[in-house]
Amino acid sequence: MINQQCYQLGAEPSVIRALFAYGLQQAAVVGPENVYDYSLGNPSIPAPAAVNASILDIVTNTDSIKVHGYTMAAGLGDARSAVAADLEARFALPVKAEELFFTCGAAPALISVIKALAVSPESEILLVAPFFPEYVPFVEQNGARAVIVPPDTAHFQIDLAQVAARITPNTQAIIINSPNNPSGVVYTEATLKALGALLEERAARYGHPIYIIADEPYRELVYGGVTVPFIPCLYKNTVVCYSYSKSLSLPGERIGYVYVPGFAQDGQALYTAIAGAARVMGHVCPPSLMQMVIGRCAGERPDLAAYDENRQLLYNSLTEMGYTCAKPDGAFYLLVKAPNGDANAFSEAARLRHNLLVVPTDGFGCPGYFRLSYCVARDMIERSLPAFRAMIDKGV
Ligand code: PLP
Repeated sequence: MINQQCYQLGAEPSVIRALFAYGLQQAAVVGPENVYDYSLGNPSIPAPAAVNASILDIVTNTDSIKVHGYTMAAGLGDARSAVAADLEARFALPVKAEELFFTCGAAPALISVIKALAVSPESEILLVAPFFPEYVPFVEQNGARAVIVPPDTAHFQIDLAQVAARITPNTQAIIINSPNNPSGVVYTEATLKALGALLEERAARYGHPIYIIADEPYRELVYGGVTVPFIPCLYKNTVVCYSYSKSLSLPGERIGYVYVPGFAQDGQALYTAIAGAARVMGHVCPPSLMQMVIGRCAGERPDLAAYDENRQLLYNSLTEMGYTCAKPDGAFYLLVKAPNGDANAFSEAARLRHNLLVVPTDGFGCPGYFRLSYCVARDMIERSLPAFRAMIDKGV
């Protein structure tokens, strides 16, 4: 007998993966220059030079038993100290190495936190739409119920009335992601403070903390002088799930961390439960080489010039053609309203007529829109613009 839920998850490729596979297949037929693939969020800028230099130096000059050996479950002390010092310097917050737990990226970080907070099958975790679609299986396959908060389509901030209507005595946490995938929107300090006040009020009413799980793989990807508030500075019961996948262009290296502030309510116990959850999943001790690299490169930031150029070109071109887009201040995504309201029909017609691959965001809890990942070559964007124009002119 086979677990049917896992079977279904394995059998159905995500829309994103299906479009990506189609793009590869079509490239062989019509030529790669005639396929406009905006499906995947795979970074297109190289990792900072210091990252590659560190890898070479570590592999050449460090005892290979250490480089390829197990580390402590939570990660190397030096690397955790380097990250703690970087966070402390940037956000004026006392961060200790012992409050950090290294993970294989944001996905296992999120799952460990969810598992640690899933105290009964009734435990509820709120997801604010639009959201990364994997949150749903992450929550539902790890002992809790996913409760979806509909999107604020006016500004793509957080609709607090909708959050308030969904908090119950079983609410354990709310997952938020800013800069956001798929909208590219950065939640403002005012939004986050208001959310914090609401959660505090309800936590007092129900007699237990309601945590913010801040999923932050795009924290450093922000443009035009916009700042991304560091949520533990605004709401103490915050757990941060961070990843270097996007910020240092290292998605294949699987490295990130969970930060549980010591000042969070039950912070110590939560940290210990996260360590236990990681153990249950077999997700302890992420790649030692990458931990060492982060130890040296915790202060490295990406050069965002290429993403910023793409962002401006795409946003300006599409809005000029008449498309409505969420204001893209961060990440590398643009969320566009389907001209006639049916994003699936738009995506299908764009694919078949023009080999233009865009992702409808129904699975992100936001029907009627599609996502463009602009971590692509600039000339692909330029070549794709006539297809976008033809689509809107045809009124699909
Ligand atoms: N969270 C969000 C919002 C993402 O967009 C992604 C990946 O695209 C992840 C988490 C998973 O990131 P990682 O590669 O670090 O597991």
